[in-house]
Amino acid sequence: MDYFGSTDPRLMPKHLFWGAVHIDYESAVRGNPEKQNYSVCPRYWFMDADFVCKGCGKNFTWTAGEQKAWFEDYYFWIDSSPRQCKACRADRRHLAALRAEYDSMVAAARPKEAIAEKRRVMEVICELEAALARLPDKMMETKRLFEHQIQKHSKPTHPTAGNLPG
Ligand SMILES: [Zn+2]
Repeated sequence: MDYFGSTDPRLMPKHLFWGAVHIDYESAVRGNPEKQNYSVCPRYWFMDADFVCKGCGKNFTWTAGEQKAWFEDYYFWIDSSPRQCKACRADRRHLAALRAEYDSMVAAARPKEAIAEKRRVMEVICELEAALARLPDKMMETKRLFEHQIQKHSKPTHPTAGNLPG
């Protein structure tokens, strides 16, 4: 019985590679859900996937190795993914824009029921975290709080609650 692609990378829920223009299933390596930050659906596999960079419009590959580090070493929220290539992520103006986006969104995301807003803030935090060695303490606190609230929200009732694209 397959569970979220546990036996076959081709059966992984599509939202985990949302926006990918190509997925190289041959490159799949095993993920370890015990090391991942998820509420319902972990990543049983990592595999090279191509995305279009929102910054420069070029294709870039998010490699299986990068994903493993991202989700199992850095413990990023399971639905997060890079929206830009490495060169653009390192762009200082982009980081400043992300920081401004965080500042403008964080207040609206604070109410308990603002789950969609929390998810978006988490994406911004994850992008900042991927590009910077260390985040400000206050931002890390927000990240932990929102993670907790999102997980609490998506736990019970409905087996597919965590499967919607973020
Ligand atoms: Zn780019």
